[in-house]
Parts: sequence; structure tokens; C-alpha cells
Amino acid sequence: MVISLKELYGGLKVSLQNVTDSPDFEAKELLRHLFGITTADILMDRRPDLSEEKLGELETLVQRRLSREPLQYIIGSWEFYGREFAVGEGVLIPRPDTEVLAEQVLDYLKGKENPRVLELCGGSGCLAATIALEHPGAEVTVVEKSPEAFAYLTKNCEALKSGVRCILGDALDTGVVLGDFDCILSNPPYLSAKDMSELEPEVRKEPVMALYGEEDGLFFYRELTALWKNRLLPGGMLAYEIGMGQHDDVAEILRTNGLNNVCQTRDCGGIIRVLTGVKPADETLKID
Ligand code: GLN
Repeated sequence: MVISLKELYGGLKVSLQNVTDSPDFEAKELLRHLFGITTADILMDRRPDLSEEKLGELETLVQRRLSREPLQYIIGSWEFYGREFAVGEGVLIPRPDTEVLAEQVLDYLKGKENPRVLELCGGSGCLAATIALEHPGAEVTVVEKSPEAFAYLTKNCEALKSGVRCILGDALDTGVVLGDFDCILSNPPYLSAKDMSELEPEVRKEPVMALYGEEDGLFFYRELTALWKNRLLPGGMLAYEIGMGQHDDVAEILRTNGLNNVCQTRDCGGIIRVLTGVKPADETLKID
């Protein structure tokens, strides 16, 4: 081939800058994904043996990206908490913000030998698998309603040998799983009708079912808290990822449902991203 790697990379960046603020990153990700080319290869302008066919494959992927398909779907997997998760159409892409929820849950579980953990609306399985693998001994169950997402969920949980139990079912039906839990967590759909009308084209390619939390975005916090608070063990924790600016409303929902020690945690961008509440330890009667 005649084109040098620097030329190829430069050309890719120019194409991609029409659809992204980080063309450098995306160009490198595509080159790494398709050809295993690293940043060092580009810097040293190594001349890889790229056939016409290979370059054609690259062109196809670039066209998909230019039509605003998310980079993560094109690559087919994305990193979360140091592990790769398969993703594609029909499943929410793991976000770095969500690692804050994983951290809060793992912190809470510290020192507990065989805690029972339930995740609702599990999507790709990035949270459930991370918690199971980072806290060996935890008995993790995850519920997901969408059959498309469930296929990714089971694939990821199995590929990572996480031992997570995956249930295809509706988180609004407490009959999907038996028993009480030390921790129940969820990153439910939380975008409002207004948020949905302002989505980037890439996010529009993700499942509405994983994004839309009804008119005010708070539907699932209200429903899930009311439904599942009775399935927390005394001292058990409910933990949510929330959208920007939802902390006061969700804190109120947690308190109204009898949960104490409501705590908030910020993400790397300084936005309050996680809210937790604890069921009183001395509570023997169920809250209605
Ligand atoms: N974090 C996602 C977004 O900003 C929303 C995910 C969700 O609704 N749980 O688009």
C-alpha cells in the first residue's frame, strides 16, 4: 500500500471531526479495533500491510460512524471498570459515570461475606458483573426486561465468568425474584420528556426503553422504591444512579419510603450521580 499510517490517521480524523469532538480518540479506536494499530505505531509511522480489502472495511465503519451510529456499537464492545462488555443495538452503552454506582455498592459490601445483591434494569450487565467479580462471595442477581438487552447481559455475565444470575423479567414485578437483599441497585431509565427531545443523534440510536423515565424522568425511582423497599434486609441499602439535578427529588422519594442515611456521590464531572438510602437496621415490621 502507498498511504502511510500518519496519512491514514490524519484522513480519518478529518472525516470524523464532522461528527465528534474527539476525532483523535475515535480515529485511534477504529484503527486499534480493525487492525490492532496502536498510538506508538502511528507516532513511528510504521507501514502496516493494509490490503484494499482492509481499507474497504475501514471505509464501511467510517461511513457508519458518519451516519451517527455510536462508536461503541461499531466497535462492538466497551470498557467498564477495567473489563470489556459486548454492546450493540438494543442495549445501553456503559458510561464512565456509572462506575460511581459500582464503587458505592462495593464500598457498602466491604466486609460482608456472602451478601445478596439485586440489580434492576441491568442492561449490558456491566454493574452486576463488576460487583460480582470485585466482591467474590456476593450472590448477585440481575433483572432485565428487554430481550435484546438480555442477550448481551447473559453473554457478558457468562464470558466474564461472573456467576451472576440473569433473569428476563420486569423490574416493576417483584415476583420475578424471591428473597430479601443486602443491596438493591439500579441505573434505571431517567431522562425526562424534555431530555429526550434534546438527545444527541448517537444517543437516539440507543434503546428508548433504557433512557426514558416518563414525563419528569422520575417514574422508576418512585415505582422501584415503593416496590422493592420491602425486599431489603434490615440495614440493607438501595442505590441509584440518577440524572443531573434529580438528587433532591430522589432523596425525597427515598425518605418518604422510610429509608435513612440518604447519601449522595458526585461523578468525575462534579454532578451528583448516585443516591443511596438505608433501611433502618432495627426495623422488624415491613413498611407499607
Ligand atoms: N446516562 C444516560 C444518558 O445520559 C442515561 C441513562 C439512563 O437513563 N439510565 O443518556
